Amino acid sequence: MTPFNRNFGQGRSREGISPDMNWRELTKAGNIYEPGNANTYETGDWRTIRPIWNKERCIHCLICWRYCPDASIISTDGKFDCFDYKHCKGCGICANVCPTHAIDMISEDEIDKQKEARRNEE
Ligand code: SF4
Ligand code: SF4
Repeated sequence: MTPFNRNFGQGRSREGISPDMNWRELTKAGNIYEPGNANTYETGDWRTIRPIWNKERCIHCLICWRYCPDASIISTDGKFDCFDYKHCKGCGICANVCPTHAIDMISEDEIDKQKEARRNEE
């Protein structure tokens, strides 16, 4: 029988639960298989505005990194490196806290239009 496609993250239960299982084989109600983690969910799909980094204005203070609620700012060797666009929800907090205005928030529609225009130029 095909196992239920229940999403329990990456825990062992994903393969372990199937319709023909005996109730004794299930974990006790309320048991948590593993800590909650949004890593496997690409929450960046929700975004309607996108943070764009301006390298020239950045002083690598990493205040944006500290405030991002989704851990979507990647730093390398103590410096701003890039955004994790797979998980960034476009809340704009990083742009608001940046002391040098090195992050612009641009609508995804505008970015799509710019990409389209570039493709047409090629
Ligand atoms: S807060 Fe602004 S200046 Fe500081 S690291 Fe982030 S982008 Fe750069
Ligand atoms: S827009 Fe929000 S989620 Fe995306 S990098 Fe900035 S603070 Fe993080």
